[in-house]
Amino acid sequence: MHCPFCGEADTKVIDSRLVAEGDQVRRRRECLSCRERFTTFESAELVMPRIVKQDGTRQPFDEEKLRDGIMKALEKRPVSIEAIDAALNRIRFRLRAMGEREISSITLGEEVMNELRQLDQVAYVRFASVYRSFQDINEFKDEIERLTTQMANGADPVDVAKVLAGPDDEKE
Ligand SMILES: [Zn+2]
Repeated sequence: MHCPFCGEADTKVIDSRLVAEGDQVRRRRECLSCRERFTTFESAELVMPRIVKQDGTRQPFDEEKLRDGIMKALEKRPVSIEAIDAALNRIRFRLRAMGEREISSITLGEEVMNELRQLDQVAYVRFASVYRSFQDINEFKDEIERLTTQMANGADPVDVAKVLAGPDDEKE
């Protein structure tokens, strides 16, 4: 590429290394004419599929919105921000790996639920109660029953009814 200092057409790469956990290549370059050095970063152009909502409208994939939803479900739960970031990365990766230009909001919801199920059961139920409320109510009921049994067996001393009331209740 051209030298940003003198405009010389030819620059040479003097160092090249992977950064950002292998998602980027950082290159040190030197101008063959003025000898100035500069750095370039190269990364893949990552195009996320658009999200098709149930009413048929399309919207861009909104990572901030997704993060907000996950954080809301995980409110006051013992889950680290690193674990949340890792989950978001996996969701992004899988959405891209589908190779579709558009995916349904249901598919996105399922991906989120898969991650939440592994992160935290309470957060999973919170999220599922919102996401599945207009879909397959039986599937949701089965999941609640499964969790209730699990909790009754001492897995987690949580009140399912309280969880289902959602993360918005004021009482502490
Ligand atoms: Zn130069």
